[in-house]
Amino acid sequence: MVETHIIDGKMIAKDFRSLVAQHVRKLGSTPRLAVILIGEHPASLIYVQNKQKAAREVGIDVDVYQLSPTVTEKSVLDLIAELNVKKEVNGILLQLPVPPHLDSSRLIEAIDPVKDVDGLHPENVGKMVTGRPAMIPCTPLGCIYLLRHVLGNLEGKHAVVVGRSALVGRPLAQLLLRENCTVTQAHSKTVHLAEVCRQGDILVSAVGKPGLIKRDFIKEGATVIDVGINRLEDGKIVGDVLFLDVMGQAAHVTPVPGGVGPMTIAMLLFNVVKAADQSLSQATDLIPF
Ligand code: NDP
Repeated sequence: MVETHIIDGKMIAKDFRSLVAQHVRKLGSTPRLAVILIGEHPASLIYVQNKQKAAREVGIDVDVYQLSPTVTEKSVLDLIAELNVKKEVNGILLQLPVPPHLDSSRLIEAIDPVKDVDGLHPENVGKMVTGRPAMIPCTPLGCIYLLRHVLGNLEGKHAVVVGRSALVGRPLAQLLLRENCTVTQAHSKTVHLAEVCRQGDILVSAVGKPGLIKRDFIKEGATVIDVGINRLEDGKIVGDVLFLDVMGQAAHVTPVPGGVGPMTIAMLLFNVVKAADQSLSQATDLIPF
């Protein structure tokens, strides 16, 4: 049995947001984020409100462009083109998912890569994979920040990432490689998932299946990062990891809520500031890696 430390993502994110706020005050101009929200998906509305509130608290202005669920792709592309050329707009965020009649890839590719604060534009993805400076997707960046905070140097650790989405799993595996981890990427077709997961000094689950990761998936003393957000029938929000089950087996684990979620928002603010810095031709030194 090991003693399990619960990683306080809320507190770590709060401290990081204070650093972002300090940096914003030094900028000398107010960074501006444009959020495009299409339709009235309840979860998306809440996410956008949370982002807006967090941004305002650190001194970032936010414009929300709420578009009808039946908006045409051309209208969205026209809006993106307009925001791309607006000097005062530093970051553009397309809230996902978009309604099925719209092609999210085409919309993301229309965003100026310098303003792509979600880090999903193929130019940013390519730069990240080849180790060049890029906008990095917020959730993976938040996971790396948490891991660095808890473990320090990650070099040589075996990291197992469950999930391979473009939003979380894939970029996270790339970032862990960049940290000199040995990386295993698991997904829905992986056989003997428990055995694969047990190899991880670090285990990250980004799947969206409550209770997927149980005690026998965890190497004793591992650090477990739970990205999953799942709403149960009774309304309770849980992650992918059976939280109480891994107590005494994992050395560190993130709770849901209060783990990765707050870090994702904090990293969005960081990306907006980074984009604002770039427009002033200066480097952002808030994240020391
Ligand atoms: P996706 O649905 O895009 O990807 C899920 C991944 O999980 C896929 O790669 C899929 O594999 C894999 N998978 C599905 N079932 C299994 C299984 N039984 N065993 C192993 N792997 C499996 O989801 P996202 O990456 O967008 O999000 C993942 C979770 O993270 C969700 O719960 C989401 O809500 C949450 N999330 C949380 C954020 C936060 O801030 N905390 C931010 C973003 C997402 P395959 O590729 O083979 O289909």
